[in-house]
Amino acid sequence: SALYCIDGWGAPYFTVNSSGDISVKPHGTDTLPHQEIDLLKVVKKASDPKNLGGLGLQFPLVVRFPDILKNRLESLQSAFDYAVQSQGYEAHYQGVYPVKCNQDRFVVEDIVKFGSGFRFGLEAGSKPELLLAMSCLCKGSREGLLVCNGFKDAEYISLALVARKLMLNTVIVLEQEEELDLVIDISRKMAVRPVIGLRAKLRTKHSGHFGSTSGEKGKFGLTTTQVVRVVKKLEESEMLDCLQLLHFHIGSQIPSTALLADGVGEAAQIYCELVRLGAGMKYIDCGGGLGIDYDGSKSCESDCSVGYGLQEYASTVVQAVRFVCDRKNVKHPVICSESGRAIVSHHSVLIFEAVSSTTTRSQELSSVDLQSFVEKLNDDARADYRNLSAAAIRGEYDTCVLYADQLKQRCVEQFKDGDLDIEQLAAVDGICDFVSKAIGASDPVRTYHVNLSIFTSIPDFWAIDQLFPIVPIHKLDERPGVRGILSDLTCDSDGKIDKFIGGESSLPLHELGSNGGGCGDGGKYYLGMFLGGAYEEALGGLHNLFGGPSVLRVSQSDSPHSFAVTCAVPGPSCADVLRAMQHEPELMFETLKHRAEEFVHNNDEQEEDKELAFATLASSLAQSFNNMPYLVTNSSC
Ligand code: PLP
Repeated sequence: SALYCIDGWGAPYFTVNSSGDISVKPHGTDTLPHQEIDLLKVVKKASDPKNLGGLGLQFPLVVRFPDILKNRLESLQSAFDYAVQSQGYEAHYQGVYPVKCNQDRFVVEDIVKFGSGFRFGLEAGSKPELLLAMSCLCKGSREGLLVCNGFKDAEYISLALVARKLMLNTVIVLEQEEELDLVIDISRKMAVRPVIGLRAKLRTKHSGHFGSTSGEKGKFGLTTTQVVRVVKKLEESEMLDCLQLLHFHIGSQIPSTALLADGVGEAAQIYCELVRLGAGMKYIDCGGGLGIDYDGSKSCESDCSVGYGLQEYASTVVQAVRFVCDRKNVKHPVICSESGRAIVSHHSVLIFEAVSSTTTRSQELSSVDLQSFVEKLNDDARADYRNLSAAAIRGEYDTCVLYADQLKQRCVEQFKDGDLDIEQLAAVDGICDFVSKAIGASDPVRTYHVNLSIFTSIPDFWAIDQLFPIVPIHKLDERPGVRGILSDLTCDSDGKIDKFIGGESSLPLHELGSNGGGCGDGGKYYLGMFLGGAYEEALGGLHNLFGGPSVLRVSQSDSPHSFAVTCAVPGPSCADVLRAMQHEPELMFETLKHRAEEFVHNNDEQEEDKELAFATLASSLAQSFNNMPYLVTNSSC
């Protein structure tokens, strides 16, 4: 486990058990030993074709743990409750979950259910997100906020006002100045008194990828001049009491509490100014930014980590708001945060299989007929071969590498000229590999082929070089014998993972079985990508028409050392992904069936044989549309 730094990024939810498997602690530090869930057992149960009503889910597989989600929400709430209490802050914290981080129905419904005891709400950034937030919040706390962010047109604003009519605690946050006229007009027409927030563009800026949202040139929010104009217009419209919330967002993954305190302090000053100008201020909404420790380093120097935990984050926010408000004699506002990454990252694990590995196994030297090989070489290549042999005997390693490269190159040229057989070309690879191995210069890094699309399941790795912890979920009691990079199923050279946490360019891995397949545990080798519960599912695309993973929802069960599968959904079929690109699988099937009919008809077989041949073709085609696009590895046939 130290090899993969599991105790660093995994705590308090993931550890390694005595069987060498990843063990999930669904209740974090409160998990009792008998409540731990062996991830390998979950995966085996899910993929076994005999289980789950004959479904036998295919890989890749996302395993969700709602208990972890609950623990994250409660931990965030307790961190703020503690900060509020210990600092004598005179208002409470009430968070919202930004649904864009993971809009999965179960995830959002769970968050609303788990958070209803402490007024947890939702944040939406588009019309469909608003619709889903509205319907989910009908079952949540009455006080839970429904924060409407994002670019808004008249339809969006009308919908948000409908939400207000439905007694949902809706706040329309102005991201652009022009939205104000629409809000004033539409709310008058609909006879609803809106609650308005405004998003301020802070001067505080954070460096790194996620910092581009912040600072004066950031994409979103109102400049100081615009804020002043909005206040004026609301005053003229006798609606200044409607302005109740100040929103800002420094950027995701805020690296340090120093930067956080700086940003929150600036926002608190704006809040106090809005109070002074007569707005009906109640809430300060700190946006997202609460970071995740992806590499376990707990360091603000690392791109994959942050230098604080939940408690330090909450205490910093509360302290910064309190300090400014006390100095200005302003009533403490309700503190809200839109923490997405911090709530959902841990709750899901992406499991995928390594199906083969390339060792670039060249021809064995013993099977090369050296005499005939040398005879066919041209003079230059033959000289290289002799020099290589002599250098090897003398043990001159650098010279060996030089002549081996030269020999290979000359043989390729000879092959291109048509003067060397393909067997000779294969033999030269075998000879050079033998020499490399003998002098310890062979490349030890292998390529492991994984049943996955990086573009679909880990898009942030491809798009913004974001690293996630990836580890085998079993065999962790055995020292991995090799190192490897991971290559996915897409026919795209970007579809590989060759950067790992800790600045590594390869991952320690176990040898796959001799048949090129898996190792141990029935020949399978399973890897897990952890902390990917936020953003990855929604951002993933359909490159090569690989669709989303199968999904399994696993809760801790009442019986010891056991778990309950509460939902199992196979990933999209080939027909589903084709439909997403406007193809019509039913018509495609008809076209292909017709072609099959023609083919069978033109065959000179007996009538009954024709019928059988057609039925077989048609059923195989139908099956192909229904199958998932990934490699089938759990089939019994
Ligand atoms: N709120 C807003 C306005 C955002 O833009 C974002 C993400 O960038 C979030 C909340 C969620 O941020 P995080 O996932 O860092 O908590």
